[in-house]
Amino acid sequence: MMYAKVIVDVAAARTDKAFDYLIPEELEEMVHPGMRVMVPFGPRSIQGFVWEVTEHTELTRVKPVKEVLDPSPVLTGEMLELGEWIAEETVCFLITAYQSMVPSAIRAKPKKIIRSNVESTNLPEALKPFFDGKNEAAWDDVVQTKEAASALKQMTADGSVMVDYLLKDKTGKKVTRMVRIEGGKADEDYSRILGAKAVKQVQAMNWISRHYADKAVPVREVQENARVTSGVLQALIKKGFLLEESIEAYRDPYQNRVFTESERPSLTKQQEKALAPVQNALWKQSYEPCLLHGVTGSGKTEVYLRSIESVLKEGKEAIVLVPEISLTPQMVERFKARFGSEVAVLHSALSSGEKYDEWRKIHRREVKVVVGARSAVFAPFSNLGLLIIDEEHEGSYKQEDHPRYHARQVALWRGRWHSCPVLMGSATPSLESYARASRNVYRLLEMPKRVNEAVMPEVEVMDMREELKKGNRSAFSEQLLEKMQDRLEKKEQIVLFLNRRGYSTFVMCRSCGYTPSCPHCEITLTYHNTGRRLKCHYCGYGEPLMQTCPDCGSEHIRFFGTGTQKVEEEITRLLPEADVIRMDVDTTSRKGSHEKLLDSFRKGEADILLGTQMIAKGLDFPKITLVGVLAADTMLHLPDFRAPERTFQLLTQVSGRAGRDKLPGEVIVQTYTPEHYSIQHAKWHDFHAFAREEMVQRKRGGYPPYFYLTLITIAHEDAAKVMKTAARIADLLRKQLSPEARILGPTVSPIARIKDRYRYQCMIKYKNEPELIRILNDLNAQYQKEMAEENLTISIDMEPQMFM
Ligand code: ADP
Ligand code: ZN
Ligand code: ZN
Repeated sequence: MMYAKVIVDVAAARTDKAFDYLIPEELEEMVHPGMRVMVPFGPRSIQGFVWEVTEHTELTRVKPVKEVLDPSPVLTGEMLELGEWIAEETVCFLITAYQSMVPSAIRAKPKKIIRSNVESTNLPEALKPFFDGKNEAAWDDVVQTKEAASALKQMTADGSVMVDYLLKDKTGKKVTRMVRIEGGKADEDYSRILGAKAVKQVQAMNWISRHYADKAVPVREVQENARVTSGVLQALIKKGFLLEESIEAYRDPYQNRVFTESERPSLTKQQEKALAPVQNALWKQSYEPCLLHGVTGSGKTEVYLRSIESVLKEGKEAIVLVPEISLTPQMVERFKARFGSEVAVLHSALSSGEKYDEWRKIHRREVKVVVGARSAVFAPFSNLGLLIIDEEHEGSYKQEDHPRYHARQVALWRGRWHSCPVLMGSATPSLESYARASRNVYRLLEMPKRVNEAVMPEVEVMDMREELKKGNRSAFSEQLLEKMQDRLEKKEQIVLFLNRRGYSTFVMCRSCGYTPSCPHCEITLTYHNTGRRLKCHYCGYGEPLMQTCPDCGSEHIRFFGTGTQKVEEEITRLLPEADVIRMDVDTTSRKGSHEKLLDSFRKGEADILLGTQMIAKGLDFPKITLVGVLAADTMLHLPDFRAPERTFQLLTQVSGRAGRDKLPGEVIVQTYTPEHYSIQHAKWHDFHAFAREEMVQRKRGGYPPYFYLTLITIAHEDAAKVMKTAARIADLLRKQLSPEARILGPTVSPIARIKDRYRYQCMIKYKNEPELIRILNDLNAQYQKEMAEENLTISIDMEPQMFM
């Protein structure tokens, strides 16, 4: 007897383990680990992943597997193990981890179809009735009998049939209907054979035999060229003259683009130096995490491309992760131009059918390179030679939903599994990665110069306190406005950057730049309208809103945050001749609109591009000679310990946009706190100095990379229940964790209420808590009932990137 250990599709603590099922004899050869099956569970029938196939069970009564859902495993052995690791590390259920690795198009119970590549007369007898003269048959019918099932297995093994999912139209693959001459050879005289009366049929057969005597032709093409209807072709199929087939066509989202073969520039010295260790690790087949710190324009992408070339030469595969927001057609083009059809692209703008097509190319080993956003880290390659993470500092690599994995961590895990290099690149590495590189946990590769010795753009910092003194209350300093006028006259382009409005409000003194922050946590206090109080979102400290500035006594204490729309109006008023393109969540919500706006700006259809951080990346236009950051402070004072780091990254990123070409670029940064170290070091393009200073702050505040963080958010409609639960959880943690762990809160979350549900949070700061994962899992189990029945949510975020 054979048994399957199955992880069932019920995300709950009590089902978070494998259940044993009997594999019925007729399915015995078909069930393998990593496949999905339908199994009885209580009164229902549900999906599950086969974890293991074994000959043993401890149980006396096991129910049988009902149905096999996948023709081949959707998860490799590596993925099954990776899922276990993710479930453990992110405190989620195994099933949640596994589901997230499977493309959504086939997540529901998919129907399957068998496609044959052999003449129907050559099919095994057991299968003939199912195909019935066509090249397709329904899997569900075939696997009913043992003979047919084993014939099918045989044919799948030698590649003469292929089993695939039959997807619904909306997401289904595109199929082209084809016909071919039965037997593969044409007759000379169809009018004799078919009879002179069958004019149209003769016409069709003649045309096909002339043009496609020995291969299949799309039905549409025959109809158009031989001028016959589909009825005529149907008749010929019935009579056995033609054989009907359908060929699947991949939906290619890039099919209307022409990719030109790019020339390979010869590498600069520093590129060669960065490339060598990556190639070495590849050749030695050793796991080697490398941090490539290269300034903007130093040619990191070329280093990626060359390392991939080496990977392909070894017959291996590569994954390239790029933040969603910089996964632009220009970016994709650089990879397609070098590696052509070897590349699959995965990102969230694809329809689920398109994503499935790309996934299938990987699954079938038809491509060797995947370029994609976060979830592409799960690309089911089995012979990986390299993983690349571009812009490794990006917070979006962390998934904010279950499973809350960080793509960088997953990439490192896979690199270790495959014994291959992992290349993390950035102009502004995260302090976590940089600290590891400084301690030689990662190998540090530096590229301090731009290609062709191009100079870094001049960054000027405008003190907005001075503008206020001069009576200028507009969003533009005098100097920025002058420079904008100058560029408009010269017909050069301008990018204006306004940070997304903070999700919470902070207050600032406009005379001196003072912003109140928590005396315990070193993060900015957030203003709450109820009670007019300022609160710390980490520890719960609070104080009343001040009337005058404690630093300078000024009464110009203001809430902060200006919208892009307001700025656009101001530009129209001040510079009526300028054409402005505004890019923010409002103007880019429709699919493709993001790209359209950028395209239009690239073509020179506007003088000014005004936007939120979505424009900070990937813009590589030669005519931009002025970049303005309107309010650097909005990001600097978010209630998040990474605010200075994010500000530094952003300023570096935007100033990297200017002067990438022949024309020199200028950057103007407007701020009320020009002396802040984030702004000063960004002005001088000095990452190392910034990192040194920021590390001191992190140490003082007890933040990563010195401490680990875990954020627990509790939400429910009933505020009292949330507070009570949060307090109980904090208590429990204080009792169970070691005295070295610091538990902050409970306190109200920065977003205090979402969809009528109140939110409270606790934060744990710790260095070494081997019991933490177990304690958190117990916590989950303990509240399981309340979560399932009373709509309570307790979300656990290990190493959070966002603090909302
Ligand atoms: P980064 O990603 O580090 O900001 P890019 O890879 O975008 O830099 O390179 C900046 C520019 O320099 C691109 O236009 C690229 O084509 C060009 N470039 C890169 N490497 C070389 C090289 N070795 N020789 C000439 N041009 C190069
Ligand atoms: Zn002040
Ligand atoms: Zn605090």
